[in-house]
Amino acid sequence: MTQKKKLYEGKAKILYSTEEPEVLLTYYKDDATAFNAQKRGQIEGKGEVNCAIAAALFEWLESLGIPTHYIDRPAANQMRVKAVKILPVEVVVRNRAAGSLCRQTGLPEGKVLPFPLVEYYLKNDELGDPLLTGDRLMLLDIITQEQLTQIKEMALKINEHLQDFFNRCEITLVDFKLEFGLDAQNQILLADEISPDTCRLWDRRETDPQARVMDKDRFRKDLGQVESAYQQVQQRVLAQIEQWRQSVNK
Ligand code: UDP
Repeated sequence: MTQKKKLYEGKAKILYSTEEPEVLLTYYKDDATAFNAQKRGQIEGKGEVNCAIAAALFEWLESLGIPTHYIDRPAANQMRVKAVKILPVEVVVRNRAAGSLCRQTGLPEGKVLPFPLVEYYLKNDELGDPLLTGDRLMLLDIITQEQLTQIKEMALKINEHLQDFFNRCEITLVDFKLEFGLDAQNQILLADEISPDTCRLWDRRETDPQARVMDKDRFRKDLGQVESAYQQVQQRVLAQIEQWRQSVNK
């Protein structure tokens, strides 16, 4: 595969152009950052693990009618994706209280929310990715009302599917972050990644509040065994995907 030009290097991925203008190549890195990149490190093998998890989940979500940017995975840590214009909004969906929701509201960690909470954060490192309201999104001309309605609907549908999926993996989906992009036809596609870097995942087989953590909080909070937690997620996700493939003969 011809890697033409590095277009962008983010904290966890590098984006290259390809010979086809509508296709981009994403390279998943082992680099890990937290707290707006104030904490930096490496999680060995993370690139391959996250790429495998994200590819499997995108393919599965696509089969359920969620349009995604995913095309295929030409190498363990590489994903070919449809070129999209990423909307500068991080969409967070929460099923239980954790992280910034606890810090900002005082809700106890782990509290089951009475409904899935959908939140919008501005993708802007200088401003520290502030929490936005729907009206502020309009004010900043980031998105139309119609797109916002569609994105919220998509996020809630993705949450239903993912909750169901992770339940079958014996994992609680606490919260997660999504990014969306617009393709050449202005269609909204699910983009970026879904992985232990972008989700809070708690092992149902563990009750201890530290032992159950299977996501980037292990890195953020220096809980150790980050690599093995990510590998465990990969193993369970791929086992579920394998069952799905067999059931649909894919
Ligand atoms: N998240 C993310 N990227 C970000 C911020 C948050 O992937 O830049 C994910 C995070 O892993 C968690 C969810 O979004 O699954 C909610 O994060 P929260 O707002 O609680 O932020 P934090 O506690 O990490 O500051």
